[in-house]
Amino acid sequence: MDECVFCKIAKKEIPADVIYESEDIIAFKDIKPKAPHHILIIPKKHIPTLDDITDEDYSLIGRMFLVARDIARSIGISEKGYRTVFNCKSDGGQEVYHLHLHLLGGRKMHWPPG
Ligand code: 5GP
Ligand code: ZN
Repeated sequence: MDECVFCKIAKKEIPADVIYESEDIIAFKDIKPKAPHHILIIPKKHIPTLDDITDEDYSLIGRMFLVARDIARSIGISEKGYRTVFNCKSDGGQEVYHLHLHLLGGRKMHWPPG
């Protein structure tokens, strides 16, 4: 069965610049960064979109944000701030259909987003 690109990264079948890993979460640098710091935090299990999360994923989603907080501190962007984003489906700008939390920092973010 063909697997999605982020499942392959989670299984180390294709390389990525991994900066955090636990039993069920992995974080790595975005291949085409949209900010000086751009990290993707993903569950290792395949969840296509934010619309597909269930009550069982409650803790997982919360821990993804704790990972974002910890990475932001470790790379030195927590003082000035940063942005976390889940893009959901086509109108949300989602291109990879494996749930991922964007952590963007190192520059002033615009609002509203495009
Ligand atoms: P989306 O638009 O789905 O919210 O974001 C997908 C992100 O994944 C994009 O920022 C894109 O640059 C990144 N991306 C896509 N393919 C790969 C890959 O193979 N490796 C890494 N590290 N990032 C990827
Ligand atoms: Zn996947």
